[in-house]
Amino acid sequence: MDTQQAGDGPQHGQLEPSHGTSDGARFGAPSGTADLHMHSSHSDGTEAPAEVVAAAQRAGMRTMSLTDHDTTSGWAEAAHAARRHGMTFVPGMELSASHEGRSVHVLGYLFDPEHAGLRRATERIRDSRVGRAEAMVRNIGRDYDFTWEDVLAQTSDGATVGRPHIADALVARGYAHDRSAAFEEILHPRRGYFVSHYAPDPATAVSLIVAAGGVAVIAHPAGRGRMLPPSVLQELIRSGLGGFELGHRENTDEGTRALRRLAHDADLIVTGSSDYHGSGKPNRPGEYTTSDAMLARILAAGTGSAPVLP
Ligand code: AMP
Ligand code: FE
Ligand code: FE
Ligand code: ZN
Repeated sequence: MDTQQAGDGPQHGQLEPSHGTSDGARFGAPSGTADLHMHSSHSDGTEAPAEVVAAAQRAGMRTMSLTDHDTTSGWAEAAHAARRHGMTFVPGMELSASHEGRSVHVLGYLFDPEHAGLRRATERIRDSRVGRAEAMVRNIGRDYDFTWEDVLAQTSDGATVGRPHIADALVARGYAHDRSAAFEEILHPRRGYFVSHYAPDPATAVSLIVAAGGVAVIAHPAGRGRMLPPSVLQELIRSGLGGFELGHRENTDEGTRALRRLAHDADLIVTGSSDYHGSGKPNRPGEYTTSDAMLARILAAGTGSAPVLP
């Protein structure tokens, strides 16, 4: 579960970087005006890319990245919206990976979306996600009146399918109060309906993003009980890992402190972001942010695609 409430983060709409404030000390990432982790209806967010860009701007952000799960299909709309709003847009994606059966999310920025190896990986993950969701629906259908059509009705055409779409379908059926409740109840692994999907190991995920000219940042790396072991972190650094998302509501203070030291020692980038999913999660745009200095490092290091600059 989340260990930070939204109110613990920087104030919404904060416009000035606050170097060296208690937020920086506590979460290991100075704040700024960039929110580099946001989802749209091209994966499991509830708003179109242009609406996500507008939400970032309303929260005082000057820079945003659209990081849908395993797809770049929202980039064109987001880039267009960013141009209209005079914002910086950083093309991004949250690539699914898996370490010993546990899900690991790797944010990629400014990579080439046509890179063959990365494309093959994302296509395989998205395919596997469909079969996996169908299997979960069959499992749930043993005990509930629930079908694949229920899930399709909650999923935009071409979107990366995930458990949140199943959750939304359970809500529409009246089996759960909201998406979070569906995750806590029917979708909780203890209920036995869970099925996993294919995902590459984290080192492969990082290597693919780097090979495509991108910057790889581990998303919410200090989530409760979800820290990668030090040996794997070192392997990721050898694979070209760019940094850690230290500002995220799911990170624990203790894990964040440890990764802050590692980031310092290995001279890695540290980011902070909201992981906005529209109405699908309580996360608010700009609740964690990335400093101008760290944004500049990402923009300098990513060579596979171009940002939209104001
Ligand atoms: P999947 O990738 O299909 O296994 O689903 C994981 C996604 O579900 C994450 O990216 C989150 O967006 C979402 N998620 C996980 N836990 C929760 C929760 N408790 N409430 C709402 N969304 C959640
Ligand atoms: Fe998600
Ligand atoms: Fe994630
Ligand atoms: Zn995310």
